[in-house]
Amino acid sequence: MEGVGLHSGGRITLLVRPGREGIVFVREGVSIPGTPANVVDTRLNTTLGSGGTTVSTVEHFMSALYGLGITDCEVEVSGPEMPAFDGSALPLFTLLREAGARDIPGEAPEICLPHPVSVEEGDSWIRADPGGFSISYEIEFPSRAIGLQRYHYDGTDYGGRIAPARTFGMLRDVEMMRAAGLALGGSLENAVVVDDDRVLNPEGLRFADEFIRHKVLDLLGDLWLMGAPLIARIRAHRASHRLHVALARAVLDAVRPQERGVS
Ligand SMILES: [Zn+2]
Repeated sequence: MEGVGLHSGGRITLLVRPGREGIVFVREGVSIPGTPANVVDTRLNTTLGSGGTTVSTVEHFMSALYGLGITDCEVEVSGPEMPAFDGSALPLFTLLREAGARDIPGEAPEICLPHPVSVEEGDSWIRADPGGFSISYEIEFPSRAIGLQRYHYDGTDYGGRIAPARTFGMLRDVEMMRAAGLALGGSLENAVVVDDDRVLNPEGLRFADEFIRHKVLDLLGDLWLMGAPLIARIRAHRASHRLHVALARAVLDAVRPQERGVS
């Protein structure tokens, strides 16, 4: 696959190969396992790194892998970030589904919680409770085009309900990022851009609640860094990549206490 990097603006190619070591990103010969421990930046996106080599914006790719249940593959990327494609996970999901997947017996047991796990920062929080899988996500933006949105995802029809939802940004933030040399590849082709009560994309939205569906897409991608499905009742309020990854780390701590050296 080939596409434009949202921040660098350069053309970036991806080559996805079968693998047996979990999800492993490879850039300039450096292997970076896609795990919560290897997340080095969550400010604008989820960035993985190892020994100074980084790959940014892995979350939409990881989300597509969640949608297909793919736990093992090697992803060779030619630049510093994953291509943006149309800002959603749909192109990745569609291509990977066409390629197909093979079962690896005995791999990736589901992650079940022994007790509730929560993370918070200011008035943002995520809570995961033991139980069947579901996500309830809520966001609230001053922009009237977004406002208060809630979405309940029960794990069904990822390709139809979640994968097509595009990333979004405020026009004033895009202008600030451009001035800082970021978002150089960003356009109405790969993001929904909002100016207060208006969506600037001429084609409009793919869903009336596309924004909150994209937040669910991001959360599913960030949680897929754990390497196996998390079976829990998850509620998120105004969360971010930072909190998504914090939850993944807290869940791993909760289910693998022996790896924290507490004995
Ligand atoms: Zn996103």
